[in-house]
Amino acid sequence: MTMDQPVVRFSTCSILDCGAPGVRGMSCSTCQQHLCVRHSRATFHKCSAIAELSDQEWVSRVENEMSQTVNRINVPELEKRASALKGNIACSFKQSSLQDRMMGNAIYHAWLTFDDGDRWLLRTPITKLCDIPDNMTEYFIASEYATLKFLEPTNVPAPKVFGYGLASDKDNVIGVSYLLMCILAQIAEIFVEISKHPVSLAGSLTTNDGHSHVAMMASNRFIHLDLLGPFSCASDYFTAVSERYLDLIADGQVHAEYPVEAFAFYSLARAKIHTFTHPNTVQNFFLKHVDDKGDHLLVDEDGKISRIRDWQFARFVPAIEAFGPSYLTANMDRLHSRDAGVTDLDKKLAKELRQQGANDLAGYMDSNEIARRFHNGLSDGISRIEAREMLDAWRKTFGSILPSDLDAWISQTCDKDARWEKVSQLGDDVDSVKSYDRGGLRLLA
Ligand SMILES: [Zn+2]
Ligand SMILES: [Zn+2]
Repeated sequence: MTMDQPVVRFSTCSILDCGAPGVRGMSCSTCQQHLCVRHSRATFHKCSAIAELSDQEWVSRVENEMSQTVNRINVPELEKRASALKGNIACSFKQSSLQDRMMGNAIYHAWLTFDDGDRWLLRTPITKLCDIPDNMTEYFIASEYATLKFLEPTNVPAPKVFGYGLASDKDNVIGVSYLLMCILAQIAEIFVEISKHPVSLAGSLTTNDGHSHVAMMASNRFIHLDLLGPFSCASDYFTAVSERYLDLIADGQVHAEYPVEAFAFYSLARAKIHTFTHPNTVQNFFLKHVDDKGDHLLVDEDGKISRIRDWQFARFVPAIEAFGPSYLTANMDRLHSRDAGVTDLDKKLAKELRQQGANDLAGYMDSNEIARRFHNGLSDGISRIEAREMLDAWRKTFGSILPSDLDAWISQTCDKDARWEKVSQLGDDVDSVKSYDRGGLRLLA
């Protein structure tokens, strides 16, 4: 570089008439100024450093940056673009909150959820005082896209990227620079990692004298169950849960809105347990999040899953449940309908697992959705009609040819059970029971 060529600057000091180059990375978000060496010294610049801000000040600053970022996104256009990239499957954008901790220092993340249950991550630079020139920020996005595309045919685990846009591009109507990516490959990696840490009992962890061990299972997603177990074999676990549900339904403690259908659901479960468990084999159990609907995943600066939160109710469960279809790849509307079977997203995750060499885990993921439907049961807060549809889907899950008359099938399935008479009486009173919201009770969610 010759003497008469100026050194490239990110910024010029904002102090009136200064004109000196701003120190890179030292722009002040409190007074919104770029500062040169001289003006960034404490004698001139009196703003508190980020570390000196009170929690309240910090939260309000971050929230402000986040809402500025979100306000620039043209949400309908973003949804339209994502939908077009995915074969016209509709999707909806969910703004993330500070509590979701989905933002790094410079990047904001939020989820796009598709009607088929798939979930993409939006990455967009945070709108805030920054001395990095816009053309460089855009170059970073374009280069990240190209890098992820380069990695796609390789075995290097990386998010799959579907599209990007640059704010300066006239054809980009979304209003911000962005990347759209899917994180199924990372989820597959997490599954593979979990599969390396089996335990010999089904149940939840607790500590005793500083050591953790598997003890009674910490209820379930809807907190219907009391503490059960631990269990040393999968069929004992599924049987105990089914039996406890049958007791609780007959006692009027759970599924008071549709006791007959719920009783039939667990009667069928209990009768079919032998078809999906293997009593005489060595039994391993694997850690499973109880409510893995996607909002439990936190993403870091690089778009990688950095943490999984809400481990309350986590349990060690048989492989069919740990690695089989779960909420993560479910289509929740379909789960609450008459339509049964693995979803396209289940199959995609299975494909990722196979690509990572986990053929056994992939086999659980795309063979059937027994574990997902067993874990969810008939849900809380649904109508009796929905419960009947879900029961029908549950029957289809086992693939057997069943009588088409649901009521005839229910009595045939249940009437040998000593609890059935009580259940049918409860069923006669259902109209007087009111419903609660879907989703059930969630503690510390
Ligand atoms: Zn300042
Ligand atoms: Zn200056």
